[in-house]
Order: sequence, then structure tokens, then C-alpha cells
Amino acid sequence: MPDLRALVLKVEPEQTIGYSLRDSRYLNITNRCTLRCAFCPKFNDVWTVQDYRLRLNREPTLEEIIAAAGNPQEYREVVFCGLGEPTLRLYTLLEAATRLRPYTQRIRLNTDGLANLVHGRDVTPDLEGLIDALSVSLNAQDEETYNLHCRPKLPGAYHAMLDFVKLAREFVPEIALTAIEGLPGVDISACEKIAQRLGVSFRRRVLDVVG
Ligand code: SF4
Repeated sequence: MPDLRALVLKVEPEQTIGYSLRDSRYLNITNRCTLRCAFCPKFNDVWTVQDYRLRLNREPTLEEIIAAAGNPQEYREVVFCGLGEPTLRLYTLLEAATRLRPYTQRIRLNTDGLANLVHGRDVTPDLEGLIDALSVSLNAQDEETYNLHCRPKLPGAYHAMLDFVKLAREFVPEIALTAIEGLPGVDISACEKIAQRLGVSFRRRVLDVVG
């Protein structure tokens, strides 16, 4: 009689690398983050977003990411976004975007905007021609409120995120800042004004809804 407990432990639960929402194909390439957002489902031990289980047993390889994109021509866009910060795998992300580029009209990156801070250099020129749109998590109208909700691991994160947006304007045609409706102390109209001042668009988000 086999040890059933051992068998169960060996079976890795299926992980979601690619998932579809509306007419977009999303790619979940890492669960690592530079922020530790208090509102994040993963810190509440909920890894499921709109019925997709986004906890990764291990980070997918480049080939697995490309395979998970399916046929990008069936979608309006391919979006790098999961329960994690895609730019922590910057070079895999850029290589995947390069490979997908000929097959999709639009590639969007959902990001915390902290790639320059993490990588210690301005990475925004690397995005040129590969990333058509950026959704950057502004999350708050000031540093204090941002730190309260996003709990950044690195100092200076809020201003680094704003600087990233300023620099990215030269290389990425569409940029939207986002903030979540209903978080205590978050002033959505003040967030919208920051986006206006930066000359980018703004989108309010609903908690736990990927977009
Ligand atoms: S950046 Fe996104 S995935 Fe990372 S902790 Fe914040 S909400 Fe969660």
C-alpha cells in the first residue's frame, strides 16, 4: 500500500501563469514584490483573483511564459501582471515582450513603478518599442499614506515611483496611474490631479479586481 500522504505532497497544485480577463491575456511571471501592500490578497493568504489561483510554486521560465500567452492575436492586449511585480524579472520580461511583439498589437505592463529604484539605474529606455502601455500603482496622494498602505521595503519608494513615471513618458506611449477606491486616507481626486500634473491618465481601481 503506497504512502498516500507522500503521494499528496509530491503533487504540485496547478499554477496559473497565463489567464484571460475580458479581452486581455495576463501573464503572472513572479510572486515577488518590492511592496508589501496591506490590502494585497496574498498577505491575507488569499491567492485567488477572480477565480484564478495566482500563487506560483516556482517562477515560470521564458518558454513557459511564451506558451502561457497562448495565441496573442486572439486578445486585444497582453498584460504582464500577477500577484507580484513583473519588473523584478526585468530581463525575462523584456525578452518575453520581444518574443511576443510580432504577434500582438499591444503589450501592457502593470507595475509598482519601482524598477529604477530596485535596479539602480534608469530602465525606462529598455521599455521603448516593447511596452505600449504602463499601469503604475500610484496608490496614494502622498508619501505618508502610500507608506501606510504599501509598506515599501526600500526607502524613498514613493518619490522613486513618481520619477519613474516622469522618465517613462519619453519611451512608453500610454501611461495610466491607478489608485484603489475606498482605502482609508486615499484621496482619489488628489491622485487624479497628480496624474494630470504629470500629463498621464488616471484610473480608479476596485480592490481585488485585476486590470
Ligand atoms: S504590489 Fe501588488 S502584488 Fe505586490 S504586494 Fe502590492 S498589491 Fe500585492
